[in-house]
Amino acid sequence: MAVRTICVYPDAALRRETEDVTVFDDELKALAADMFDTMYESEGIGLAAPQIGVSKKIVVIDYRGDKNVLVNPVITAEEGSVTREEGCLSFPGIYEKVESPEKISVEYFDENGEKHVRELDGFTACVFHHEIDHLNGRLLIDRVSPLKRAFLKKKMTKRAGGR
Ligand SMILES: [Zn+2]
Repeated sequence: MAVRTICVYPDAALRRETEDVTVFDDELKALAADMFDTMYESEGIGLAAPQIGVSKKIVVIDYRGDKNVLVNPVITAEEGSVTREEGCLSFPGIYEKVESPEKISVEYFDENGEKHVRELDGFTACVFHHEIDHLNGRLLIDRVSPLKRAFLKKKMTKRAGGR
């Protein structure tokens, strides 16, 4: 097990298309374990594979002891809308109020290839939604107002040493 480096925006890895996982082997379990280590190290509650530069549909979440590995997750239904403050390990120190569905239905496989179908609400729904967004290259910055987006883009690029 190892702590990996987290890709910080505007790292191109965060926008890369992700592939479905087709083999549920020890390599997948080792990757998920690394993702948990990396997430705990940064005191996060969720981490998606693109955030460590791996373009695969894998997410780990540990929110209030509800520990999950999500492989090839899909949101099959969304209901309602709530505004919550969200943070992201790829946007260190930044917290923004964004809208997310109040309830979601989600289907995924765990690291053993077992299928799960769950209906979620509250902050748990918010965390699952945020992480699954990562697998589609959709980031926190895409969900704020255009003005805020321009501001954050500038701030993050400057921080990365760009212009
Ligand atoms: Zn995130």
